[in-house]
Amino acid sequence: MTKQRLDPRDTLIRHAAVFHARGWMAGTAGNLSARADDGVWITASGRSKGALSRADFVRLAPDGTPASPKGRTAAKTAAPAPRPSAESGIHLAIYRLFPEARACYHVHTVESNLAARLGTTDWLPLPALEMLKGFGLAPSDLPVAAPVFDNLDRVADIAHDIERRFAAEPPALPVLLIRNHGLTTWGPDMEAAFNHVELAEYVFRYLVVARLLRL
Ligand SMILES: [Zn+2]
Repeated sequence: MTKQRLDPRDTLIRHAAVFHARGWMAGTAGNLSARADDGVWITASGRSKGALSRADFVRLAPDGTPASPKGRTAAKTAAPAPRPSAESGIHLAIYRLFPEARACYHVHTVESNLAARLGTTDWLPLPALEMLKGFGLAPSDLPVAAPVFDNLDRVADIAHDIERRFAAEPPALPVLLIRNHGLTTWGPDMEAAFNHVELAEYVFRYLVVARLLRL
């Protein structure tokens, strides 16, 4: 496992800029978080993911409440205090479920939303692509399916669904879909979570194009 740096914000800023440039975090959509020794750092609500600064993050205590605003200078600022992402509950559910997870990335991609429509209510079967090995899957693990969740009005209810379902049946790979919303993935460090977003997006893009080509 890669050692997580004490303050992960610089890496989160870099990764968010890449995702924003690709249209996967358009506007203020999506949220990235990482676990550090002093809590969970997560992108603040309502900030453009293409132009984040260190001030655009909130540090959460394990119970989800904002911790002291370390990193924000005490100097006077006209800007309101950043609020944690509205979807923090999903990140915290993932961290509770998977102690080995040190980063959780949630993005809104067109392909993930289209692909989620190609499976059943609860599952999206994935094609047996070589790329799935990037999730640590062996050929004997295939076939696999990505879990799909309803996009409920209250994020807390989505988080509850995730926690209840995964506690009973852990997913085969660190990816989940929320219908008409986006994808969430996690990993042992930020680089792994970044790679998982790219891998998942590749697989979902493949599914969409395959459907277009009637394969
Ligand atoms: Zn979202």
